[in-house]
Amino acid sequence: MFLGHFGIAFAAKRAAPTLSLGTAFLAAQFIDLLWPTLLLLGLETVRIAPGATVVTPFVFEHYPFSHSLVAVLGWAALLGAAVGAVRRSAWVGCVVAGLVVSHWLLDAVVHAPDLPLAPGFDALVGFGLWNSLPATLAVEASLFAIGVWLYAGSTRARDRTGRFALIGLVAFLVLVYLGNLFGPPPSAVREVAWLGHAQWLLVLWAYWIDAHRQALLPPQPMRTQPLPESRPSS
Ligand SMILES: [Zn+2]
Repeated sequence: MFLGHFGIAFAAKRAAPTLSLGTAFLAAQFIDLLWPTLLLLGLETVRIAPGATVVTPFVFEHYPFSHSLVAVLGWAALLGAAVGAVRRSAWVGCVVAGLVVSHWLLDAVVHAPDLPLAPGFDALVGFGLWNSLPATLAVEASLFAIGVWLYAGSTRARDRTGRFALIGLVAFLVLVYLGNLFGPPPSAVREVAWLGHAQWLLVLWAYWIDAHRQALLPPQPMRTQPLPESRPSS
């Protein structure tokens, strides 16, 4: 899953208008941001095997710290508590924690059974949507399109940067995804790990966009009763 994670992050703006898109990207991609570092440290391993699934050439051999359910719940609690404390909002913290967990749930839909439930456990989860290119494309494209639509509808560009940086990011993500799908597989795991770190630039890009867009507040419920102070006093 690639575009779908970003789709969920875009959509979070509707649920939490004060949450920056950058923090939403950080949360929704948190375990994929950790993973390349853990690969370089040798704590997690992946193998490149073209044809492993129809969509991706990776065999995720060992990634319990970034991608086991128990670890992800821990990361979600940590990041949610940290952002909630800084923003002084339990709701924003909950949305951030939900974004971290959403990554694992979406991964579980597409991955082959390779997602551990907890470090040291043998049971692996994965429903294998990656074995069908049309089904994968349909799910990724729908999540992404709905997310971008919700973000664009929940915010307004303050200036030209707010409009064109967003269009640029959306186009860039789609191009990267198509490149991953239809380009040649990477030649070495170290290349994957170093390129993976470039995802931090997407987080910065999202912060930049969000600083140039204004969140629109959700519509207030219609008042059916007149306000007390508007009543005649006599
Ligand atoms: Zn992942």
